[in-house]
Amino acid sequence: ILAPSRAEVEAFRRKSSSFAARRDRAETFLTRPAVTKAGTAVRVQVNIADPSDVDSIDVSTCDGVGLMRTEFLFGKTLPDEETQYRAYRKVLEWAEDRPVTIRTVDAGGDKPVPGFTVEEGNPFLGLRGIRLSLARPEVFRVQIRALLRAAIHGNLKVMFPMIAVVDEYQRAAALFAEEKAALAARGVAQKMPPLGIMVEVPSVAIAPEAFAEVAFLSIGSNDLTQYVMAAARDNASVAHLNSIRHPAVLRLIASVAAFGRAQKIPVSLCGDAGGDPAAIPALIEAGLRDLSVVPAQLAMAKAAIADVSI
Ligand code: PEP
Ligand code: MG
Repeated sequence: ILAPSRAEVEAFRRKSSSFAARRDRAETFLTRPAVTKAGTAVRVQVNIADPSDVDSIDVSTCDGVGLMRTEFLFGKTLPDEETQYRAYRKVLEWAEDRPVTIRTVDAGGDKPVPGFTVEEGNPFLGLRGIRLSLARPEVFRVQIRALLRAAIHGNLKVMFPMIAVVDEYQRAAALFAEEKAALAARGVAQKMPPLGIMVEVPSVAIAPEAFAEVAFLSIGSNDLTQYVMAAARDNASVAHLNSIRHPAVLRLIASVAAFGRAQKIPVSLCGDAGGDPAAIPALIEAGLRDLSVVPAQLAMAKAAIADVSI
């Protein structure tokens, strides 16, 4: 807002101090485990990107890392195995025995990586996430080796982004098996982590039964919402449509949660809605008991959970 009026300045001041008051009240929840009013426990993990993100988080305030994005390692040049191994190992050691879920590179869409992603007319529906990794196995295999080696340093889980069909999961899992065998043959210490998928393409949320073999499911509500509502996540003019609280999105989330319960596959949610106090009651009502939030939202999320009566 250029040259705001006195009234606008006043309105933003009021908003800012009421936000600060809510945030300060929420601070008391930070060090406690998250439970609802009815005593239902909810696991709250954090989303991170750069490994240095963990430096400012007290590990005892969270239940682990629910999403480590790795695209941020992919800067002007593609990162080598050692750089990736060190980054993953740092986070695993920080987390001690808590789970750390690292997502294989999700380049493309709203996250272009020079020299890796391709120019496309409709990048959100194009060669992104696991599609790109499978199309460029020489790049993907480097990341896989770094993850397999880092796995011995903590409680690692690995997930694949933008899975649309089970064949993608199976091909990615096969590459993990191949690289593990090759490392073992060379005498390199390594470990196979549990392999799961992001649920962010509607085909998976609508027909999850094809995925009974995966170790876990993590709902990416940012992308799932944009694909269900046909409203780009980075377009302010359609932001009013991009709402996780639309019944179409919540119904899909609830059916994925029910599928997980029936099949005994853990289901979490790592989209931004997980840390949004306005969305948290609906997510818990949809059956989720495992959320991953940006570190700055940790206390507010726990405070919002404490207000839910389920
Ligand atoms: C999501 O889509 O909800 C998600 C967590 O992944 P990203 O925001 O990195 O696409
Ligand atoms: Mg996503």
